Amino acid sequence: MNKRYKIQLLIVIFMAGNMGHSKTIDSPYEVGTWPGFRKAAISYTFDDGCSNQFATALPMFEEFGFKMTLFTVSDWSAGNWKALKNASAAGHEVASHTVTHPRLNTMSKEQQEIELKNSQKAIDSNIPNSKCITIAYPYCYAGDIPLCEKYYIAARGCQGFIEKSTPGNFMNISSIVCGNLGSIKTMENFSKRYEEAAASNGWCVLLLHGIDNDGGYSPLPSAVLRESMEYLKTHKDTFWVDTFVNVVRYIRERDAVSVKETSNQENSIAIQVTDTLDNAIYNYPITIRRPLPENWQAVKILQNDKAVNANIIELKSKKYVMFDAFPDGGNIVLSKSSPITAGNASAAN
Ligand SMILES: [Zn+2]
Repeated sequence: MNKRYKIQLLIVIFMAGNMGHSKTIDSPYEVGTWPGFRKAAISYTFDDGCSNQFATALPMFEEFGFKMTLFTVSDWSAGNWKALKNASAAGHEVASHTVTHPRLNTMSKEQQEIELKNSQKAIDSNIPNSKCITIAYPYCYAGDIPLCEKYYIAARGCQGFIEKSTPGNFMNISSIVCGNLGSIKTMENFSKRYEEAAASNGWCVLLLHGIDNDGGYSPLPSAVLRESMEYLKTHKDTFWVDTFVNVVRYIRERDAVSVKETSNQENSIAIQVTDTLDNAIYNYPITIRRPLPENWQAVKILQNDKAVNANIIELKSKKYVMFDAFPDGGNIVLSKSSPITAGNASAAN
């Protein structure tokens, strides 16, 4: 390769490297670290398909309106596909825990690839309406990372710490083991970790196996699981509870997003929210806020001509409009409106 070509190639690589982080946020806009500008993210992940995950936990999550992640060993799932398919249709995540639950770090690359690829294939063919794009390592041992990245956007280990708002390594995201062999056994253990996550604006990923007496590893009493969810429901303005993959989506999007104000008139403001990520995967709305313009009492917000979730909030006696937008989801228009119109975000509510 000649020198000139080499330099050009380096420039291209440099530019491509920067494109993923081309974050430009126009003043006075702010992007929430977490949806709704909450303080922390919480994900409940369940491994191995232990029977009470379906019989006990799933109905509990449905009752609370929270979403869970089920990391599935595809060779062990013969009797569970129907339940997994239903869970996926209800918005829960079904993702990979390999084909046979091996220690990936003891296998050849060829063997590892079979585990990574075939588990994803089995899940995607049994649950055709969603895509399996995350994995949890059996026994928390990562194998070959570049190989894993060929198939998955993120992977879960279990190092036992609360993740930062942007994890240092998306291919080995820390989780905390729950149940009698883990460090979270009681409600006090849960709330301490949740408060730690809120204090650091972090992400608390929980790892559960057995529930009550279903024979699963490190069982947690269902009563404690319920209490932990009641706590999160009570503190729903502080904690965002969602699947492992949705939290990854949100982080990647808010770290890559550009917010540009393209026009600002007396009764209407137009903005563009864009990123350079693959929209087929990164399709989760992110929360944005800006001060409510002077003399506006209420606001109507459309993205691509569809109404978006919006609220007027007050922070230190200043009013803001807060709304959810899909990056690359089309133009966003904020219009001044009267406070009584139903469906508008109003200062009165
Ligand atoms: Zn496992």
